[in-house]
Amino acid sequence: MWISFIFEIYITILGLVLGSFYNVVGLRVAEGQSIISPPSHCPSCGRRLTIRDLVPVFSYIFLRGRCRTCHAKISPIYPAIEAATGLLFLFSFIQAATIEEMLAGWLLSSLLMIVLVTDLSHMIIPDKILLFFFILFSVFRSAFPATPWWDPLAGAAAGFVLLALIALISGGGMGGGDVKLFAVMGLIIGIKLIVLGFFLSTFFGALLGGLGLLTGLVKRRQPVPFVPFITLGMLTAFFFGDQLIAAYLDLIF
Ligand SMILES: [Zn+2]
Repeated sequence: MWISFIFEIYITILGLVLGSFYNVVGLRVAEGQSIISPPSHCPSCGRRLTIRDLVPVFSYIFLRGRCRTCHAKISPIYPAIEAATGLLFLFSFIQAATIEEMLAGWLLSSLLMIVLVTDLSHMIIPDKILLFFFILFSVFRSAFPATPWWDPLAGAAAGFVLLALIALISGGGMGGGDVKLFAVMGLIIGIKLIVLGFFLSTFFGALLGGLGLLTGLVKRRQPVPFVPFITLGMLTAFFFGDQLIAAYLDLIF
């Protein structure tokens, strides 16, 4: 009981710290900069950030969302990504039946958090990030197969084909980055969950995009980042997919 609680605290802290790193990776790769140098600094005044500015979530709250020196606003995306990564790491630990599936949850969450940063800040999904996770997921699933050997390949193919079809039909509404992202994610979650995740992503996109249009938050023809909906859809599929499929089958049979 206590041991598990201590693990939960450690894992949440690990997620928070990695989330902070994912902000840096996402922004710097999207801008074509090096991940390691220069050290973190305020984008407005250039002041080098110290350890006091870099505590995940808490620094943002303590500084009330502004730079300590020049008082420029800090994007709320930073603490949101940190908090989300911490919670997703914790949730993977609580939910997963095996260590391997917990790691799969951490890996999928990590990819999604990084591309969330690149998509929200620059509307791109960089190839460098996709290639890195493509290799990581391939090695991971070769070492820890959860399903028959062909399932990750079928998942990648299905993710690619479904998104390529949507990209063709929508005529540019969906980018090549989204197509490759689905192929990479298919590797780690397999064909059943990538298909479900695809339907959930488009469902969330239609629902929240429609709400955005109705409330005037989104304008017609305005390009909308799609990764937030992909994140919602894929994480729902990963964590609740088997229950959702079982409930659905119960309903029709
Ligand atoms: Zn500053």
